[in-house]
Amino acid sequence: MIISELKESFENQISGIYTNSEISELFSIFCTQILGINRFELRRSEDHIISDEQNSVFIKIITELKAGKPYQQILGETEFYGLKFFVDENVLIPRPETEELLELAITEIQKNNVTDLKIVDIGTGSGIIPIVLKKKFPEAKVSAIDFSEKALKTAKKNADFHEADINFIHQNYLEEYLLEVYDIIISNPPYIGIDEEKEIADSVKEFEPKMALFSPTSNALIFYEKIAEDSDNHLIENGMVFLEINQKLGEETKALFTNVLSEVHLIKDISGNDRFVFGRK
Ligand code: GLN
Repeated sequence: MIISELKESFENQISGIYTNSEISELFSIFCTQILGINRFELRRSEDHIISDEQNSVFIKIITELKAGKPYQQILGETEFYGLKFFVDENVLIPRPETEELLELAITEIQKNNVTDLKIVDIGTGSGIIPIVLKKKFPEAKVSAIDFSEKALKTAKKNADFHEADINFIHQNYLEEYLLEVYDIIISNPPYIGIDEEKEIADSVKEFEPKMALFSPTSNALIFYEKIAEDSDNHLIENGMVFLEINQKLGEETKALFTNVLSEVHLIKDISGNDRFVFGRK
């Protein structure tokens, strides 16, 4: 089998699931990983012969893609904030909105000119938030909490890969208190309400961890209520809170913080949806 034949078979088999441009992007991503041929070389390697082993790897990938498995999980990695992160079935695949959350946080933190901050990320998943912050602010003391031991394992692998010194804490956040008083609380907690489940793509529900997506109770704001309580008791004066939120619950989420923080803003993402709450004590 040569590459052009493989490409044709790849395209034909997943054409109903992905758009043409996504298919060509995916094909080049997998060729880079499996054949070691990058996008540029690929154009000149159409008659390059692939081995039976390589072909069988592609057959497996196509089967997984057809089943709706996210390509990032098949690859075992993804790019976030220009960096490589390992992902698996135990962590949420990083979303572009979270890059915006980090940009917002980094901009606000930089305005203050204080870098030896105590930061905590609640519900860290793959660890993207604390790792990006630690790389940006090496003097900060960064902690990250998650309830899932499996997620923490992946987060630690990412932190090791990036040589980021993060204090990972295994904790049932909703039931326990924060251990310290922080300068910054940041979080992208599970915020999809049970009633919204039908709006979520099947592949997301089937392959990504439910506990990372859905609120554990019928109250979609349960994490935000606890974070508001902690902002009262475990955040220093002038400390800041950065949250990614459910776009349908913008005003409700903001309202939880108006009595606790002196300044609270509801901020839209680049798609124009209410997506972040930023506050200062
Ligand atoms: N903090 C991680 C992220 O933003 C995980 C979020 C989650 O699992 N809800 O991707």
